[in-house]
Amino acid sequence: MKFEEYPISDGIKKSISKQGFKKPTDIQYKAIPNILRGEDVLAIAQTGTGKTAAFVIPILHLLHIKKIIRKSAGIKCLVMAPTHELALQIHEVFLSLAKHTKVSSFCIHGGVDQDPQKERLSEGIDILIATPGRLFDLVSQGDVKLDGLEILVLDEADHMLDLGFIKDIQDLMRHIPAKRQTLFFSATITEKIKKLAYSLVTNPIRIQISPKDPVAKNIEHAVAFIEMEDKRFFLGNMMQEYPERKTLVFVRTKVRAERLLKALERQGLNAITIHGDKDQKEREKSMQAFRKGEQKTLIATDISARGIDVPNVDFVVNYDLPDSAEQYVHRVGRTGRGREKGQALSFCAAEELELLNEIDDNLGKPIARLDISKKDYQMTKSSVVENENEDWQGLLKQAEVEDKNWEAKKKKRRKNKK
Ligand code: ADP
Ligand code: MG
Repeated sequence: MKFEEYPISDGIKKSISKQGFKKPTDIQYKAIPNILRGEDVLAIAQTGTGKTAAFVIPILHLLHIKKIIRKSAGIKCLVMAPTHELALQIHEVFLSLAKHTKVSSFCIHGGVDQDPQKERLSEGIDILIATPGRLFDLVSQGDVKLDGLEILVLDEADHMLDLGFIKDIQDLMRHIPAKRQTLFFSATITEKIKKLAYSLVTNPIRIQISPKDPVAKNIEHAVAFIEMEDKRFFLGNMMQEYPERKTLVFVRTKVRAERLLKALERQGLNAITIHGDKDQKEREKSMQAFRKGEQKTLIATDISARGIDVPNVDFVVNYDLPDSAEQYVHRVGRTGRGREKGQALSFCAAEELELLNEIDDNLGKPIARLDISKKDYQMTKSSVVENENEDWQGLLKQAEVEDKNWEAKKKKRRKNKK
């Protein structure tokens, strides 16, 4: 079935076609009719399969139709997402598909001034996309009123209902009408979280696509055994071998992101970082540069693992192993999106073996092993070590020259004084 044949407004169809979408993806095909009927949906489908449009299209239609009949003020739909970047990205999808409708949308997230957000909110909007922290603040202050809410969406639902966010979400529920349509979307879900999700809705329709292998089929992924102190050489080597390859590198912590950046710079390589210690402007700048392909290597923490849809990411590197199979699925899911193909490689050091076994078990099948021969391992290591030494020697020489110049200047000055 083509989008043209859907019982949705022509304006939305026009925008869908402008996006270049001809046929719905599996999850869109399955979820859109249920959402149009006003049902509660828990939808689990692999990364990059178009879950965003699966809720954006029917929501826009439902609200557009309502607006033709009645011009009611107040927020009708709330979409929650875990990070600033993802909230902004979802808002972009709403904007691009709502062009020929009467529906308005707005995005709020932390890290920026509240006042312009309050101002826009006071003008009235239909759809609000938000991260939980800022939303909670604005709701508590009375700037966001959710008493007329009809549709609630949790994107990356399992993450939104997990430890870091659940309290904010539960507090928010007190401000939201119990009679509403609730939609959950994610690529992963655990039994515990599923139960929690069900407790928040009346009669959920569960839609699950390819549950057996949670990793999207467009992604070829493997793990290589590389010691912690050698990882930077292997990454550097790959960056030199494939300078055009758009690569997203995941590390465990913000500090490790910055340290890796320095290590790559010592090898004469360029990269940028994105993590929670950077302010919003820097985060957006990094994301833009990577999106546009001006920067080929982005080093990120897990804040970029969920939902982010950057076109043409060729390669994901788990420089450090993630701490769960779910996180693994989301990280490698930044490549191979839509119809694209992607590759992912994880670096596993001896101290991470236990973690790898756990991820293997929870994925349902072990990640393919990429064997590096002793010879290749040594070669990779030594080739880059040399560069690094040269680099250091260069720096040392430069420092020596600077010292000498300085000494010479000092002598000269002393002489002049005399
Ligand atoms: P998910 O949330 O499932 O990880 P996204 O919603 O971010 O995936 O969509 C992944 C990519 O697929 C996006 O770049 C999006 O534009 C594209 N896409 C979505 N729906 C379609 C469709 N029906 N046809 C072609 N491409 C699509
Ligand atoms: Mg998504």
